Amino acid sequence: MTDTDKPMFPLSRRGFLYGAGSGVVSATLAGRAVAQDAQVPIEPVGRPMPELRAEPPIDPERRVGYAIVGLGQYALNQIMPSFGETRYSRITALVSGDREKAEEVARMYGIDPENIYNYDNMEEMAQKEAIDAVYIITPPAFHAEQSIVSSRAGKHVMCEKPMAMDAQECRAMIDAAEEANRLLMIGYRSQYEPHNLEAIERIRNGELGDVRIVHTENSYINDPETPAGEWRIQRSLAGGGSLYDIGIYGVQGARYLLGEEPIEVMAQEHTPEEGFGDVEDVVTWQFRFASGVRAVGSTSFSTEANRFGVSGTEGYLELQPATDYYGHRLTLRDEDGTREVDIDTQGPSQFARQLDHLSEAILNGGTVATPGEEGMQDIRIMQAIYESVRTGQPVPIDWAYGEAD
Ligand code: NAD
Repeated sequence: MTDTDKPMFPLSRRGFLYGAGSGVVSATLAGRAVAQDAQVPIEPVGRPMPELRAEPPIDPERRVGYAIVGLGQYALNQIMPSFGETRYSRITALVSGDREKAEEVARMYGIDPENIYNYDNMEEMAQKEAIDAVYIITPPAFHAEQSIVSSRAGKHVMCEKPMAMDAQECRAMIDAAEEANRLLMIGYRSQYEPHNLEAIERIRNGELGDVRIVHTENSYINDPETPAGEWRIQRSLAGGGSLYDIGIYGVQGARYLLGEEPIEVMAQEHTPEEGFGDVEDVVTWQFRFASGVRAVGSTSFSTEANRFGVSGTEGYLELQPATDYYGHRLTLRDEDGTREVDIDTQGPSQFARQLDHLSEAILNGGTVATPGEEGMQDIRIMQAIYESVRTGQPVPIDWAYGEAD
């Protein structure tokens, strides 16, 4: 090592942290740095407990134990790390087709390797008391079967979006959970995210006057060369294309922002020949609501956008980004001008809030805000969008909420 590439600053920081008198530090530090650090008296001290900003988690043994099904990008990068922010939830089991990967993840999270399952023996979870709930984070083609097996094993289910391939699968999932007297919740994290909740409240409070138009645009550039991008362009695994994967946020966004169900849809599609497998790229649609409100939605796998806009007779509200993982912004525009709404983001993330929502319902015997019926409603509406694309005609949305067909 030459003089110039000696890591002087990092080593002197170590001296500061661990005590300048330690043999390692004095042997490796240049004399000047040791002399500087040696002036700082370092002793461990016991400080009083700081005031807690959030409620601490409950006893681990009382927390709801989850089996994570599918160790892909969303499970490993968003959901599993978020358990650390929860009060009522913990990971107790893993389900994966790759035993080696599952063992490595189990080591990282302190999960008993005896609680590792594969996709073919999930029913054996019935015997494990430490597993209260199952969180399904696999491609949509597997959601129905894995959800039904889990319900029959006596477990509560959290299932990722899109809920399933079609409404019949959704209905079977709902029935299985009901028969087992267990909860079924869809991982609609945006419905637990503070900016979206604030937007809903302001719209309901009439701050925008009479709402006339909603715009939703939810797109990202899908890379078909990655494992997660590859199945997303195969209809047999994904159920659909950009609409099923990311456009679904706009479909449900329009519904939860307005608190109303659309009664008719008209849609169009445009897909270039290359790069989209057998699914669609661009889809645009227009919803008609009984109140007269129109919602215009768009999605694609070839552009980047994430925004909701709500226009009323007395104001305009914009969420941008609306449904990203982080960094949401809520802007209001009215006769006083345009301003960003300041929202407290100190609390747990949307992922942790979503997890604890189900856990609290399990512990206290309640219901959930985004049950299977909510997932099925979006699947049926997206099927109506596809039908309108095919026929070129408006398609009525004339079923009752919760009806399969
Ligand atoms: P991913 O490809 O990274 O992970 C999928 C997991 O399923 C992998 O562990 C893979 O091994 C497993 N799998 C089992 N059988 C498979 C098969 N035949 N083909 C492909 N994978 C198979 O995907 P992901 O991005 O983590 O998505 C998983 C689910 O989570 C999807 O339903 C997706 O829509 C959802 N998701 C939700 C959000 C959200 O914000 N709510 C974000 C990303 C993904």
